[in-house]
Amino acid sequence: MHEMSLAEGIVDLIEEESRRQGFTRVLEVRVAVGELGGVEPEALQFCFDAVCRGTLADGARLTIERVPGQAWCMACARVVPLHERYGECPQCGGVELQLQAGDELRLLDLEVR
Ligand SMILES: [Zn+2]
Repeated sequence: MHEMSLAEGIVDLIEEESRRQGFTRVLEVRVAVGELGGVEPEALQFCFDAVCRGTLADGARLTIERVPGQAWCMACARVVPLHERYGECPQCGGVELQLQAGDELRLLDLEVR
C-alpha cells in the first residue's frame, strides 16, 4: 500500500530528527500532504498508527495539512490551481501545465518531549 511506505518514510524522518535533536518521545507530528499525491488522509493515519507502534512515536497524534495543487500554465503564463494531477488549466482549458505544488509529503513540525 502506498500510504504504508509513506508512513514508514515519516517514521524514518522522525528517527533521524531524534538522533539529531536528542528527544525520546514524540507527541504530535504535522505533515503536509499535497492533494495531487494520491494520498488518502484516513489511510495514512491508519498506517502511521500501525508503523509507530513500538517506536518513539508510539501513540503520537498525526496532523495532516492538505497542500492545494498548483501548476504553471504555459498558455496563461501564470500559476493556476489544479485539483487533478493530469487536469486542465481552469483558466484556458490548456493541458501544458507544469506541476508546482501538490504532490509532496513533507514533515512540518514535531512536538516532542
Ligand atoms: Zn491556462
